[in-house]
Amino acid sequence: QELIRKLEDTIENIPDFPIPGIQFKDISPVFLDSKLYEEVIADLAAVSKGKVDAVCGIESRGYLFGIAIAVALEIPFILIRKAGKLPPPVISEQYDLEYGSAVIETRQGQIRPGQRILIHDDLLATGGTTEAAAKLVEKQGATVAQFSFLIGLKDLKGEEKLKKFNAEVYHILEY
Ligand code: IMP
Repeated sequence: QELIRKLEDTIENIPDFPIPGIQFKDISPVFLDSKLYEEVIADLAAVSKGKVDAVCGIESRGYLFGIAIAVALEIPFILIRKAGKLPPPVISEQYDLEYGSAVIETRQGQIRPGQRILIHDDLLATGGTTEAAAKLVEKQGATVAQFSFLIGLKDLKGEEKLKKFNAEVYHILEY
């Protein structure tokens, strides 16, 4: 609808960044338009209202929207960060990248057992990062109730990786 059209006009596509063959979606122009930003947050908050107890945002663009979603819903926001950034004690999850592997972490005790969690990031590509975030949530006795993104890249089949969590997957627009 209207919001989708506005976002399509605003998000920039940068070919061959950061490496040849990648079509990079740059969401930073959204922050130049505070009204549009508010509309994005209202849309994402409406989707999760009453369905989740806390929001986990994935470093770093997941923070730009995730914390505003949590504030709009008056629920906690929890940072999921790359290893080594959060002080101990932390809970960690390792996952495979195209070359090598990576580790993400949350502060221990911030996610509570039994909570229904929204995992939010700006963009779903292969789903590798989001899948690791979901495992990190489950490791702490909580359940993933929803995943939300501004953008889903459908060719990369990220949604298939998330099926096993039996959670709703929402994105405002898809390429
Ligand atoms: P995935 O693990 O392959 O799904 O990659 C998703 C992560 O990479 C997210 O944290 C995104 O912020 C980032 N990412 C991948 N492609 C893009 C892009 O085209 N624009 C912005 N971020 C991207």
